[in-house]
Formats: sequence, structure tokens, C-alpha cells
Amino acid sequence: MTETALTAAPAATDALAVRACVLREPGRPPEVESVWLDAPGPGEVLVRVAAAGVCHSDVHLADGALGEGRWPAVLGHEGAGVVTALGEGVTGVDEGDHVVFCLVASCGVCEACRSGRRTLCAPAGAEGVAGNLRTGARRLRAGDGSPLQHGFTIACFAEHTVVSAASIIPIPRDIPLWQAALLGCGVITGFGAVTHAAGVRVGERVAVIGCGGVGLQVIAAARLAGAATIVAVDRRAEKLEHALRRGATHAVDASGHDAVGEIHRLTGGGADHAFEVVGAAPTIRLAWDALRPGGTAVVVGLAPRGVEVSLPAIEFLSEKSIVGSYYGTGDPVAALPGLIELVHAGRLELADMVSHLIDLEGVPDAMDRLRRGEGDRSVIVIDRSLAGATAAEGDRP
Ligand SMILES: [Zn+2]
Ligand SMILES: [Zn+2]
Repeated sequence: MTETALTAAPAATDALAVRACVLREPGRPPEVESVWLDAPGPGEVLVRVAAAGVCHSDVHLADGALGEGRWPAVLGHEGAGVVTALGEGVTGVDEGDHVVFCLVASCGVCEACRSGRRTLCAPAGAEGVAGNLRTGARRLRAGDGSPLQHGFTIACFAEHTVVSAASIIPIPRDIPLWQAALLGCGVITGFGAVTHAAGVRVGERVAVIGCGGVGLQVIAAARLAGAATIVAVDRRAEKLEHALRRGATHAVDASGHDAVGEIHRLTGGGADHAFEVVGAAPTIRLAWDALRPGGTAVVVGLAPRGVEVSLPAIEFLSEKSIVGSYYGTGDPVAALPGLIELVHAGRLELADMVSHLIDLEGVPDAMDRLRRGEGDRSVIVIDRSLAGATAAEGDRP
């Protein structure tokens, strides 16, 4: 990978030069560049990034599937690090605190936030799509001084990042940061879909369609919620094997002849809850078809813009429903302490979700693995000692 030379002096004297993975345009692999990062402004923090997970949403952004105009940008939203400087007026966090990034920098005062639905915060969503911090500011510039967007308001595929103080959640220091990185997107998303969006109860029957990084978290959450039957559905045999190790009770090959019939047979008439964790029309329809009367399909997968789904409307007679779930539904900041308790108690495994430890230059390959549906999470180890990564970089056993 080539690194762009820093050809212009930074405008602000306290700007940091950092290595970052930059998306220039869709269809072109992101490359590592030296970029300028300005000091945090009011309500913002500077974070030294230890590790970051490569999530399918990064691939969608990089492929242009989330809309035009979202580049050039520093990628990355699932990650963990250490706070190294506070902007004016920041309270509740100190330099040296370990933190995970929170995808929704909720404002706390809009109607959605005040009703406890922080993932639907309108100001946070608008600035996120615009590639800004929640304050509307940008602190990133390319080496030549031209502006860069903060991908998903986090931009953590970088040695340091400046984020809104609402984009970080402090965590205890005893969780290695290369594992904690997963908490901020995949774990919150999967567990929230089960506990908040679906409300899975003891003894219920669940189907999980798509057993990648988030799908495996859905399975782990369904097991902890006491689901009696958890049917894992995927096209890849190795993903189904991993799903069975994570607590799925049955596995169905989605490329088989009659996946719907098989799910109905295994659940004794259909699932109470079917989770779609792919983001595609055929699998959303599969989740619907997998339900028993009165069941609910929860769409967790992020579908590219323009995807439409068709459902047989007669089946609303059987009181089936379909709902969306974004980033765990509800309040991610409130959800995290409980998830950390599960990690401490040994009931939520993070390390076994990681199939590859990579460096910043490995992002394009990690994205290709996601496009092909291979492997679990790839985690970028940006600072080895800070991340607490003991395994060698490269493929994990
Ligand atoms: Zn994500
Ligand atoms: Zn809000």
C-alpha cells in the first residue's frame, strides 16, 4: 500500500498526523494514508485506537450501497481504545479511560432520545450520514489538506480519532481491547435484537438466518434468553458448525431444497422469532416464511438502498409481524454494562468470534472475506500492546 505524503502543513498547529484507512471512492479498495487529525473541539474527545472490527456496514459504505456522497472518508465504526485528550466541557470521562465506540452519538434531548429510543436520534443520524461528528464538525483532513469525512461518525480505522463524547462508552480495563472492540457494534446489535426488539422468552423457538459476526451474537443472546430451539440457517457449512458451538440447537443449509420446511419441522410448526442478519430480500422473505402464526420476523441485516421486499399479505391474517432493529433497539449505553457483566462471568465469549487479526493494510482483504461470506470477525490490531493482543497477527487457528 502506498502512503500519501503530507504535502501541506496542517492549518492547526496541534493537528496530529495519523495513519488511517481511507475510502476514496466506491469500487476502489481503501488505502492507508497519512491524514491530519485536529484537536478535539467542545464536546469531543481524542481517542488512541487500539483495535477495530471490520463490519459489513463498512463494506456497504465502501461499495456505495448506503448512498452517494459519503466519501472520501476514514472508515470504521466498531472499535475500542483509550481516551488521550478531552475537548472543552466534556464530563464523565477522563484521560486514560478505556472506551468502546458507540455507533449512535445520541443527542439526549430530541423526542426519540427523551422516549428512550436513542438509536433513532434524528440529529445523530443526519450528521452520521453527512460524515460529520454529531456537533456538525469535522476534524479530519487528507495529507494535502482536503476535507475527509468521519465514516459513521467514528472513523476508527486509524491510529487516533476524534469523536463526539456521546460516541464513546467507558468500559473496565480488564477486558482486552481487541476483544472489547466487538462490543460496540456486533454484540450490542445482536443482543439488543433478541432482548429489546424481539423480547425472546424462555422456551421459545428461534431461527437465525445468517450466521456471520452479528448472527452469532444473536444466537448467543437467544441461548442466554432461554430459547428452547435455536435453528441456525446459513449457506456455509463452517458457519453452521460455529453456530452450533455458540449454542444453536440445529443447523439448516439455506442452499438446500426446502429450508423453510426444515425450519418448520425443527421448530414444530415455525419459529416464534426469526432473525434476518443478512440484509437481502430473499433472506428477509425466508425469515417471514419461517414464522409460525403470531410470530415476528426481526430484520437486523443492513440492506443496501433500493432493496424491496414482497410478502404474501394474506398471511397478516395469521398475525405474523415484521420489525426492524437498528443497533440493538433502544439505548445502547444502558445495555452495555449488562453485556460486560456477562463477559466477566464467562457467559459471553468474545475471543472466539474473531477469525482474523490483521493490520490496517489488511482491511481490503477483510472486506472481500465479508463479501464472500467467509470467516467471522476480522479485527484490526492498530496498537498491539494497547490492544492486549497476544496471538500472532494473521490467520487465527
Ligand atoms: Zn457494524
Ligand atoms: Zn436525540
